[in-house]
Amino acid sequence: MTDDIYVTRPHLPPLEEFKDLLGKIWDRGVLTNCGPYHEELEASLCSYLNVPHISLFNNGTVALIVALRALGIKGEVITTPYSFVATTHAILWMGCTPVFVDVDPVSLNLDPARIEAAITENTAAILPVHCYGHPADVDAIDAIGLKHRIPVIYDAAHAFGVECHCGSVLTHGDLSVLSFHATKVFNTFEGGAIVCRTPEQKRYIDQLKNFGHDGETSVIETGINGKMSEINAAFGLLQLKYVDEAIGRRAAIDKRYRAELAGLPGVQCLTDTGQSRQNHSYFPIRIGDAFPMNRDDLFHYMKERGVHPRRYFYPLISNFSMYRSLPSSDPAGLPNAVAAAEEILCLPIYPDLDDASVTRIVAMLHEAATKGT
Ligand SMILES: *Cc1c(COP(=O)(O)O)cnc(C)c1O
Repeated sequence: MTDDIYVTRPHLPPLEEFKDLLGKIWDRGVLTNCGPYHEELEASLCSYLNVPHISLFNNGTVALIVALRALGIKGEVITTPYSFVATTHAILWMGCTPVFVDVDPVSLNLDPARIEAAITENTAAILPVHCYGHPADVDAIDAIGLKHRIPVIYDAAHAFGVECHCGSVLTHGDLSVLSFHATKVFNTFEGGAIVCRTPEQKRYIDQLKNFGHDGETSVIETGINGKMSEINAAFGLLQLKYVDEAIGRRAAIDKRYRAELAGLPGVQCLTDTGQSRQNHSYFPIRIGDAFPMNRDDLFHYMKERGVHPRRYFYPLISNFSMYRSLPSSDPAGLPNAVAAAEEILCLPIYPDLDDASVTRIVAMLHEAATKGT
């Protein structure tokens, strides 16, 4: 029997190299509270990502919550229903009200025209996602934010290392939030970060993630504990050494999928929109009417044969019980997101996915294409 293939597998550096870094942590006895590896990782990431300031976090969700808090967001937050549930949970956790707006049918990112149409006097922020690492329409969204004086926070959990026409996509908006969860392109087991524009923003966010401490005896805010530990930071430094190689391997898999699925009726590979450097974090395909089975049947067909794609993002966030009763959750107002949630399947893609596995996945899709249901 061949082994099961899952949608992703974390990329791990050589264990021996991690042991060396662990040795230093043991020698120093500094385990957390912005220790030397934490500081080194912040500096290395600023330079790798070409961004001015980064504040590391223990995960992306706490980073999203602190980003909303740092900008004092209260009221309605315009966001996408087509994302991982943490995007909207952060809004609700802050006591704000999510307002779902439909996505563009091609990019599956928030449609700027619909954002603008949804703005009311209660709109406090816009929280778009760079879905699958494909940049949102940052110029249009930033312009809307400026025009209406509404802060823009990008959920950039999928967009590590992604560049658009003007450099890192992470420099757009007021803040951008990264996730370094095990399933992401760059991981620290668990982790995250806020990309800040100014030193003042970073200083305030650093205080918020450290209980609101402003020096040894002074607490200026009801902060939280969002700090990244030395173990996670050390692992991140090691990952960073190998991340270009990892993205390169993802790119090769992406290229094979595109070449070998081209012309398969009813299977459409999503095109990347506007970035000059991609990270190939996901490989979404869209199953159309010309395919002999629908997306869910194909999903089960593949699982029964040992390949486990994922239906990112199904169900829509707006369908979950805590969001369903919001006026903006009405599926009638979200036709493009509803269609994407029913038609998109994310194929396995990760650096250690070998050529034979890609061959097997492609052959399975070609074989499914010959079957009726
Ligand atoms: C992974 C993810 C998050 C949450 O990040 P964690 O580090 O797991 O807390 C938030 N938003 C999106 C879009 C994600 O994919």
